Amino acid sequence: MERLLRWKEVAAQAARQPRRYQCHHGPLHAAKPWLLSRLFQPQNLQEAGVAGLESKPGELTCKSQRLMIQAALIYPSSPGCYSYMPYTLRAMEKLVRVIDREMQAIGGQKVNMPSLSSSELWKASGRWDLMGTELFRLSDRHSKEYCLGPTHEETVTDLIASQGNLSYKQLPLLLYQITRKFRDEPKSRFGLLRSREFYMKDMYTFDASEEAAHQTYNLVCDAYCSLFNKLGFHFIKVQADTGSIGGSMSHEFQLPAGIGEDRLMICSNCSFSANVETINPDQTDCPACKGKLTEIKGIEIGHTFYLGTKYSSVFNAIFHTAQNKHALTEMGCYGLGITRILAASVEVLSTEDSIRWPSLIAPYQVCFIPPKKGSKEELGMVLMDSLYKSVVEAVPQIKGDAVLDDRTELTIGKRLKIANRLGYPYVIIAGKKVFNNPPEFEVWSQNTGEIMFLTKEGVIELLSKVQVP
Ligand SMILES: [Zn+2]
Repeated sequence: MERLLRWKEVAAQAARQPRRYQCHHGPLHAAKPWLLSRLFQPQNLQEAGVAGLESKPGELTCKSQRLMIQAALIYPSSPGCYSYMPYTLRAMEKLVRVIDREMQAIGGQKVNMPSLSSSELWKASGRWDLMGTELFRLSDRHSKEYCLGPTHEETVTDLIASQGNLSYKQLPLLLYQITRKFRDEPKSRFGLLRSREFYMKDMYTFDASEEAAHQTYNLVCDAYCSLFNKLGFHFIKVQADTGSIGGSMSHEFQLPAGIGEDRLMICSNCSFSANVETINPDQTDCPACKGKLTEIKGIEIGHTFYLGTKYSSVFNAIFHTAQNKHALTEMGCYGLGITRILAASVEVLSTEDSIRWPSLIAPYQVCFIPPKKGSKEELGMVLMDSLYKSVVEAVPQIKGDAVLDDRTELTIGKRLKIANRLGYPYVIIAGKKVFNNPPEFEVWSQNTGEIMFLTKEGVIELLSKVQVP
């Protein structure tokens, strides 16, 4: 208590004084880009992670897993569990912001439900037994059983059922969350593509009729398409099996990739595409047009289900109709693998030794590389500093999205190689042409492979087109 009073006193005193910047880097520090010499990207994590990959011959690994471990973007803590390092978390937070915007544009309201889920709910739906060993189960000190939620149909339907006076006027109701999920994978593999602890966006929708629920279903599918288009993905929407979630209609959003674990059948003639689980595996003709089916592999990044009253009937999730009668809500549920989307985009966009991100969610948009200390271009540092100040003044959103590779004991070439591996959409170098009149900077657009020589105005024009979510 005494401590609290003391703290209040200090806070009150601080509020009376005019704001002063006390940072020991001086008042300009806040206007500086992020310095790479201070980045938490420990070499020992890279080495331990790679050694861990190599020590298990025969275990399935993939490009995104190897690249992300080599760059110390993730660190395997125990099988299927990863620590996400700062770059990965930045990309994830950007992805979350983009998803929030898409979900809220269709009326989605964000909630957060507990990871600990009581066995009573799962027993009511019958999934306590059905899910088998995939559920992480535990019990509390009173011997009450729980699972760590892999999905939340039971929790959310119980929540809606408890609102005894839900009105038809409140429907459709679209609730979603972006939280950590758990699945006891028999064999976790491929890094963040199939881990035991992961982030997922799960949305649950409640409608007054089957027809309205189908409209909501299409609305959410359209939002998924809009999201994947913004990320620049060449995705396919396929008919899918409803599996342990249930319901009568389901689609998967798949990214074609050689290491994908889903087999998809695509018609070369019409728009038919399906997960092989939904059709006869020996079928070679398209059921819609009799065209030839081709098999490809895909990484599932989104999954939608029309549930009907499967869960609302169990938990009695009802609403009041316009005639003031009770009726069961019609439900849908919609998943997006957040950490899986990150890994899948690295998987499909990267080369064998260089990470590439969708531009929109790249951890940082720009990396500035000043000359090596003591080299004859050292004066270039001054010009780069002035470039940076002009850029953040003209394009304020770049301010929090730029890094400066201040490890000037390294050559430009060495730092460019590191930047190339990390996949900043733009790398700006103060090379020999900064002595031209006017000075020109070397700009690498890493996603297009283009190299340009631009004046300060040219750099500003280029970066003003960059989107930062
Ligand atoms: Zn066809």
